[in-house]
Amino acid sequence: MRNTKKIKNIQSWSYIIIMGFFVLSFIDHRFGIFGLMCMGHPIYLSFKGHGKAHCSKVCPRGSFFGKFLPKISLNNPLPKSWRTTKVKNGVLILMISAFTAMMILKGRGFTEIATILFRMMFISFLIGILMGIIFKPRSWCQICPMGHGAHLIDQKFVNKEPEYSPVNSQNS
Ligand code: SF4
Repeated sequence: MRNTKKIKNIQSWSYIIIMGFFVLSFIDHRFGIFGLMCMGHPIYLSFKGHGKAHCSKVCPRGSFFGKFLPKISLNNPLPKSWRTTKVKNGVLILMISAFTAMMILKGRGFTEIATILFRMMFISFLIGILMGIIFKPRSWCQICPMGHGAHLIDQKFVNKEPEYSPVNSQNS
């Protein structure tokens, strides 16, 4: 059941968080460990029954795209073929695989994990900016693994609806 407890909307200024994160992480890669919060918060809210509240009210990355990209975006619609569940699942699997592979190659110490998180956050951020310039400003959100992960958790575990509903099938 959806949790009705209000999540404060901070998207008008939360882009400052991601900018601060990148500045600090460039100075010292160990700050990259805070990437865990960015990745974990949408999942946490979804498990708590808030659905994709992180995306609509909190996300610093989404806030950045929404704040700065509309001025330079070409505003093309994202091709329909990119918005399929297959593509979203593919990006999610790619992210998890890349993270796992880098941990195997680089090591699993604090600094190594923080550096991996920083790099993944930064690369996906650049891809998001590129997509936001070519397509609509928040196009990255259409394929974002964290947003998709939060949606899957909400759908499969929290607000689970029966795949087959006799009532619905009779009405269709
Ligand atoms: S889809 Fe991803 S980038 Fe977009 S608002 Fe949600 S978590 Fe942030």
